[in-house]
Amino acid sequence: MSFVFEKDIASALADTAQGAATWRATARFKTGRVAATGQLPDYQELRAQANALKRHAINHLDWYLQEFEKNVQARGGVVHWCQDGAEAADVVLQIAKRRDAHLIVKSKSMTTEEIHLNERLGHHGLESVETDLGEYIIQLLDQRPFHIIAPALNLTRYDVAKVFEEKLGVPYDAEIPRQTQTARAVLREKFLEAGIGISGANFLVADSGAIVLVENEGNARLTTTAPRVHIAVAGIEKVIPRAQDLAVFLKLLARSATGQPLSVYTSFLSGPKRGGEVDGPEEFHVILLDGGRTKLLADKDKRQSLYCIRCGACLNTCPVYRRIGGHSYPWVYSGPIGAILTPQFHGTEMEPGLPFASSLCGACGEVCPVKIDIPHVLLKLRQEVKAAEEAQGAGQAERAAFRAYAFAATRPKIWRLAAKAARAAQRRTPKSVMAAAGPAKAWASEREIPLMPAKSFRELWRERTSK
Ligand code: SF4
Repeated sequence: MSFVFEKDIASALADTAQGAATWRATARFKTGRVAATGQLPDYQELRAQANALKRHAINHLDWYLQEFEKNVQARGGVVHWCQDGAEAADVVLQIAKRRDAHLIVKSKSMTTEEIHLNERLGHHGLESVETDLGEYIIQLLDQRPFHIIAPALNLTRYDVAKVFEEKLGVPYDAEIPRQTQTARAVLREKFLEAGIGISGANFLVADSGAIVLVENEGNARLTTTAPRVHIAVAGIEKVIPRAQDLAVFLKLLARSATGQPLSVYTSFLSGPKRGGEVDGPEEFHVILLDGGRTKLLADKDKRQSLYCIRCGACLNTCPVYRRIGGHSYPWVYSGPIGAILTPQFHGTEMEPGLPFASSLCGACGEVCPVKIDIPHVLLKLRQEVKAAEEAQGAGQAERAAFRAYAFAATRPKIWRLAAKAARAAQRRTPKSVMAAAGPAKAWASEREIPLMPAKSFRELWRERTSK
């Protein structure tokens, strides 16, 4: 199996500075997660509850989404059902036109990354500014997120100093507090000018019609309250039945993500500001995005992928992600969750090697707060890739090799002769020739080909017992 994204992996591995930054940052998150979850005596019980809640919500998605819509409307909000990114962008464009808004502030949202919302709006002359510090930095660089919760995780403060110098025209300054001040000064102006604020949603609460946002910087609060219009863009899988279910999810989310007991800000937003209220938007919209999710829902076995609460713990623990980083993956989602979401959203043919880019060590499944069995889904996807390849006539050489192996392995005389011949041939062939040949080539590029012993176990046994 060769990877289409092989060259991205090779260049990521060659970038030692990026590799070191990724390894350090994910190690910090990992250590934080272990310490924070270790303080919860009922941690495993909470994981089981989170899994059960998500399973229930996903299995009754139609019902809970309609309940959510009814409750948003009851509080004066509007729900828009969108099939894809184009429809979601159209909703935003229509609202912007009606409100004569030209500037949009955005808080961090992987769902809007999925549908390239900024680019879509930019084509229609709307300026859309990311206000999460990491997202703002990568927007200046025109990059996609390197990590689900830490989009600029691969960049050092020296990289950021250069970006700000080049893009904002400020003097080079590698001190993080001053960099934050610089970004804050630029973004404050944007908050004050923007006509629309766009956020994602960590949870959609069906029984109250509220969206819940968790964040550490406070920019999501400003995004959702300063402009006159707030639009939340959320995947349909974000719905949970009741507000009290948050008692489970909020205990797990920040602990699994950064090792915090709770994120700094947790906002519950429902509807526009009411009469007499000073703060809040005049309009409150929720875009419920399918974007391929119903396709995942149709597969009973793999639909558990929709339980994901985007904590990033599986990335931080994955030995593959920690070596190759987020930009080697073909879509916005990276790491183990990217390896199962991407083929399901885009088809296995987009990057057939992706489900195989895993050691199947199982660490991702063990840290997942909602207990998604990621290794199981990866194996299912591998089966699908192989079935598709076989349907196209591929893999014939592999099948013939296994048939020959089965033939020899079930006939002891032939097996003994074949093994003897293979041992003799291997001893006469220089290692460099073996490493350069055939299917062993890629394997041997990183490893030493072991020499078979001169005598088989049976031969040694015979010698020993005949003495
Ligand atoms: S799959 Fe699990 S561990 Fe990975 S981001 Fe989603 S919720 Fe977190």
